[in-house]
Amino acid sequence: MPTISQKAIQMPASPIRKLVPYSDEAKKRGIHVYHLNIGQPDIESPEGALQAVRNNTLKLLEYSHSAGILSYRKKLAEYYQNNRINVDENEIIITNAGTEGVMFSFFACLNAGDEVIIPEPFYANYNAFAVYAGVKTVPVASKIEDGFALPPISEFEKVITPKTKAILICNPGNPTGYLYTREEMERLGEVVKQHDLFLLSDEVYREFCYDGAENVSALHIPGLDEHVVLLDSISKRYSACGARVGAFVTKNKELYNAVMKFAQARLSPPTYGQIFAETACDTPQAYFDGVVAEYTKRRNIVVEAINQMEGCFCPNPKGAFYAVARLPIDDSDKFCQWLLEKFEHNKQTVMLAPATGFYSTPGAGKNEVRISYVLNENDLHNAMECLKIALQKYNTK
Ligand code: PLP
Repeated sequence: MPTISQKAIQMPASPIRKLVPYSDEAKKRGIHVYHLNIGQPDIESPEGALQAVRNNTLKLLEYSHSAGILSYRKKLAEYYQNNRINVDENEIIITNAGTEGVMFSFFACLNAGDEVIIPEPFYANYNAFAVYAGVKTVPVASKIEDGFALPPISEFEKVITPKTKAILICNPGNPTGYLYTREEMERLGEVVKQHDLFLLSDEVYREFCYDGAENVSALHIPGLDEHVVLLDSISKRYSACGARVGAFVTKNKELYNAVMKFAQARLSPPTYGQIFAETACDTPQAYFDGVVAEYTKRRNIVVEAINQMEGCFCPNPKGAFYAVARLPIDDSDKFCQWLLEKFEHNKQTVMLAPATGFYSTPGAGKNEVRISYVLNENDLHNAMECLKIALQKYNTK
C-alpha cells in the first residue's frame, strides 16, 4: 500500500472541529447543543452585498485577476484609508480568505525550517499552516492573569535565533479577545526593526473592539513599511465566512512581487465572493455599531456568568468574539468531550473548544477553554446555566 507523507501525518486535527462527531451523536440522542466552539458569526451578512450577488448579470464566471478584481482592490484601499491605513490597490492581493493570506506569508517570508514567534495561546490553524510550509512555530507565553497582554519583549528576545524570520500576532486576538495597545504595538515594532524580522499582523477582527478601545493596526506604526504584512479577511467583518475572500497587504515591494507568483500559481480568488466584498465595502457604519453593541452585550453575559462560577476566571476581552476561561477541570479535552458524551441538563449541553489546541507548549491550556459568543442573549444565558451545572457535576462525579 502506498504511504502518505510525513506532513500528512504531522497535520494537527482542528481542536475546534475534532469534537464534532460527539456533538452529532448528542444531537441524535435529542440533545440541544449550544455551539460556543466555533467562530462562525450568527449575525446576518449586509443585505446590499448579498443582493449584489443575487442581482448580477454575469454570463460567464471567469477567472479574476490573480491579485483580485481591480475595482474591488480600489474600494478596499479606500476602506483601509478610512481606517487610517495608508495603502493603495497595488499593495493589496485579494486571497482565498484569510487562510490563504497566512499561508502566502509563511511561504514567501520563511524558508523551510525557519522560525515564526507567536504569542500563545494563538489561532490553532497557525500550527497547521506552519506544517504546510515546513516552518516552526515558537510560542511566547501570555498569561490569563494579565488578560493575555503582550508578553514582555525580553521573552521574545530570549527565543530569537538566527532562524527567526517573523513574529505573527493576531489583533484583536483569537482565542483571547485581547486587543493590543498602541504601546504594545510600538514595542513589537521596535523588536522587528532591531532584528530585521517580518511582522505578520492578522487583523481579521478589526471591527470588533469594545468599550471604546482603539484598534491599532501594525500599519499605523511608523517606520515598519518594509516589515509589515497585514492579513485580512471579510469572513468576520461582514459575517461572510462562506465568501472566501481575504487580503494580503504589504508595502514591501519585493515581498509583494514574490507573493504575486504564488497568487498567479493558484490563478484567482473567487469571483462571486469579490462581487459580494466590493459592495460590502459600502456597508454603513450603523451596521457595525449594531454588531459591536450586540457582541458587547454577549461578552458581558459570558464574562459575568463565568466569573460568578466557583473556581472560574475569565478576563474581560476588549475585542473579537472570543474569551478564554480558566475552569476547575483536570483536562479540557476530556471535559469538552464529557460535556457532549455524558452530560445533559434539561436535554441541553454546551460545546466548547479545549484551549490545549491553541497552545504549542505541551500541557498548556489544560484547565482552559475558548468560548465563542456567537449565540443570541437568551441562548447564551441557557448555555452558561448548563456550564455551571456541568462543572458542579463534573467535579463530584
Ligand atoms: N485568522 C484568524 C485569527 C481567524 O480566527 C480565522 C478564522 O477563524 C482566520 C484567520 C481565517 O479565516 P478565513 O479563512 O475565513 O478568512
